[in-house]
Amino acid sequence: MKNLACPVCGRPADNLVDGRCRDCFLKTFTLARIPHIVRTIICPLCGAVKKGARWEGNTAELEDVIQERIKEALKIGPDAGDVQVSIDLTNSDPSIYHAGIKVDANVKGIRTNVALKTEIRVSRETCDTCSRISGGYYEAVVQVRAEGRFPDEEEQVQLVELIEEMIERQYRKGYRLAFITKVDELPEGTDVYIGSNSSARQACKLAAERFGCSYSESPTLVGKKDGKDIYRITYSLRLPRFVPGDIINTGGDAVLIRHSGKRTSGLLLRSGLEFSENTNRLKDAVKIADMEDAVDAVLVSVEDDIVQVMHPTTFRPVTLKKPAHLSGRGSEDIRIVIISDEIFILPPYQENERNEGTGGTERASRNCQAEAAGTGMPGYEA
Ligand SMILES: [Zn+2]
Ligand SMILES: [Zn+2]
Repeated sequence: MKNLACPVCGRPADNLVDGRCRDCFLKTFTLARIPHIVRTIICPLCGAVKKGARWEGNTAELEDVIQERIKEALKIGPDAGDVQVSIDLTNSDPSIYHAGIKVDANVKGIRTNVALKTEIRVSRETCDTCSRISGGYYEAVVQVRAEGRFPDEEEQVQLVELIEEMIERQYRKGYRLAFITKVDELPEGTDVYIGSNSSARQACKLAAERFGCSYSESPTLVGKKDGKDIYRITYSLRLPRFVPGDIINTGGDAVLIRHSGKRTSGLLLRSGLEFSENTNRLKDAVKIADMEDAVDAVLVSVEDDIVQVMHPTTFRPVTLKKPAHLSGRGSEDIRIVIISDEIFILPPYQENERNEGTGGTERASRNCQAEAAGTGMPGYEA
């Protein structure tokens, strides 16, 4: 043990910190400071927090926001290490919180602590995003449509959900304009009004990847701000023309569609071979039937690659070449579709088949409307 005296108070000390004893050092050292009043501004509608001039999205509880705000306002001395802060909050009124703050730290080898108090005043202001939403602000409209037909209800729901998912993701990343102003359901599809143009474009990109949609954008000049032209962008987002369950004629072949995206694939009904083609090469293809048109028929006999099917209305046996997807041996029911007097044997029923069950009728009636209305519908592209 060294025999030292503190030059400030003169008392003996084991060792000196910054040239003085422990007590004298701690008297001159400020471990932590906080203003008497700390202010925070939150949006009562969405909980966003104002930081300086900017709003930040927030999903935390108010008390957590206040704790965070206190930690920001708290200034810890430069030599403090291993700092531990505990905050005890009480409130008498929804706008005023009192905080007891205890700071523990290591300063130059000395464990020390300090207790502080502050008052937090919470003001509530509608944030930029919420005031824009309530004002009907939008930069872009995504029109959910389908190529050459009306999209069915399920398809529209899936696409609107995908847009919502993308908007939500962008909002969480801090895009303050990533919100949906309104959703309009129209006879020809659904229009989704979106606060941020870049979020709208991202949503269209995702729809292209996931559902094989195509999209085009067209700007409309809506005004000027600070000398710059302001545009609103309309995205025409189109689902592929054919959906699983459709039977199409492409170059004389009848194809049952099983997947539709950037590529379209399915089954060649005459041979039972697989079909796969780039979707934009199917411009001349036409839909000739779908699974709604399937009927039962009796498979009379199978001999090598020749089969006989009893025609369900004339009851005459019809001889066909055996397609690869037919596995029956004869004397059983199979599913067929008759198109322009030609019989096509359909593959066995599959779980994921479209147009079977509840969605089918709805879609069939929408198709009739599409045919009746022709291509003269506003916003409808053939
Ligand atoms: Zn001293
Ligand atoms: Zn808000």
